[in-house]
Amino acid sequence: MESNKIRQAFLDFFESKGHAIVPSAPMVVKGDPTLMFTNAGMNQFKDIFLGNAPRKYPRAADTQKCLRVSGKHNDLEEVGHDTYHHTMFEMLGNWSYGDYFKKEAIEWAWELLHGVYGLPAERMYATVFEGSEEDGVPFDQEAYDYWLRYLPADHIIRGNKHDNFWEMGETGPCGPCSEIHFDLRDEAEIAAKPGREMVNASHPQVIEIWNLVFMQFNRKANGSLEELPARNVDTGMGFERLCMILQGKKSNYDTDVFQPTIGRIAEMSGKKYGEDRKADVAMRVIADHLRAIAFSIADGQLPSNVKAGYVIRRILRRAVRYGYTYLGFTEPTLCRLVPGLVGQMGGQFPELKAQQGLIEKVIEEEESSFLRTLATGINLLDGVISRTKGEGKELISGKDAFELYDTFGFPIDLTELIAREQGVGVDLAAFEKELQAQKERSRNAAAVDTDDWVELFPIRESVFTGYDTLTEKVRIARYRRV
Ligand code: ATP
Ligand code: MG
Ligand code: MG
Ligand code: MG
Repeated sequence: MESNKIRQAFLDFFESKGHAIVPSAPMVVKGDPTLMFTNAGMNQFKDIFLGNAPRKYPRAADTQKCLRVSGKHNDLEEVGHDTYHHTMFEMLGNWSYGDYFKKEAIEWAWELLHGVYGLPAERMYATVFEGSEEDGVPFDQEAYDYWLRYLPADHIIRGNKHDNFWEMGETGPCGPCSEIHFDLRDEAEIAAKPGREMVNASHPQVIEIWNLVFMQFNRKANGSLEELPARNVDTGMGFERLCMILQGKKSNYDTDVFQPTIGRIAEMSGKKYGEDRKADVAMRVIADHLRAIAFSIADGQLPSNVKAGYVIRRILRRAVRYGYTYLGFTEPTLCRLVPGLVGQMGGQFPELKAQQGLIEKVIEEEESSFLRTLATGINLLDGVISRTKGEGKELISGKDAFELYDTFGFPIDLTELIAREQGVGVDLAAFEKELQAQKERSRNAAAVDTDDWVELFPIRESVFTGYDTLTEKVRIARYRRV
């Protein structure tokens, strides 16, 4: 089943169960001091769940563009090295706002996975919350009993607070959750060790696909729980993982979501995917990061030196660095992958198509300038590393690391990464000191607004609708009042 059809089948299924199908919220969050990027489907409904905004419909479903590269959910370092965590991914979700609860959420999850997609029960596991004395929350007997209608008892696993109690943040909506995991291993491996022992064990082929959250509490600032005015359901299923299972693959990157891009990367590098471990990691990193960067720009966030823009710049530089080091990409390459991505995803996400020209231009500029930095920085860093080793030291000095950062724009995590590969570390504490000293020095310098965003209306809710102008220095974003 093609990925576009898998997504559509999800939306059609929940539409048939009376859900309003809503568009994805932007991946870049503006006007919320607690969140830079959307990291779960429920973010856009937060105020409804808190009882601060009226619900527009009792049930909804969508596919949400998510980015997990900062804050509570940061998967960046896994990406490329494992086969099922992405920076940007689609989270398929269905919601009940004070409408249905555990019974229907579980029944429909089962009906969709087993009945519509045809996944076998023998390979499916459900986890339920074991309870927490500290919070006064009991074992989730209700969820357990509903699962027992569909799965044998030894496929229902009790999970702890870490895995089975969902919280939005320090405060806010929360509640027990029930997750569905799928075992993709070969028969022999399953016979040697049953799937129930592998759930939540970070095995790349026994993976979590769907999280059903039963939101019934609000965590108050003093840490205690209070019942929410209405009980809600919030679910999130990893679209790319679902595609992997339904397409009979063992890696998300082997699905039709990533293969076209990986094929183009392979072609441009003259290497084949699957032949060299390091080159494979680099191809996965680029195929993944390309999406994160393209969608961020489409949603109004350009790479920059501050806040969300800096996060995006770092993702882009990570991709460039992998391409440069392991695939021999010394010229801008990511920008050339944009048309293929737009062809593939522009139907579901028209913003990508609408901003294609801008996305290509911004990525190309970023790539060119970083490639220049990279060439100079790598030469310098090689010198620093040999000198450090020659002096019998294990750490690159804070002063050297700072000079690379300050004078050559070489990010500290990159210095660390390259140093680590050559067997030395970085004196981070000393680096931090240098950084603070520099901040002190520039404290009195004139304040310069380096943010990419120009607020045209002093309103909290605004929707990004495109860029009016793009020049080297001036970027003016256009907003529509909502
Ligand atoms: P994991 O334990 O695999 O890191 P999670 O428990 O952090 O996942 P949830 O917050 O429960 O994930 O999100 C709901 C679903 O979104 C998950 O069940 C998974 O299918 C998917 N998902 C989560 N993180 C990622 C990611 N980085 N890339 C792709 N899919 C993801
Ligand atoms: Mg996670
Ligand atoms: Mg998990
Ligand atoms: Mg989870």
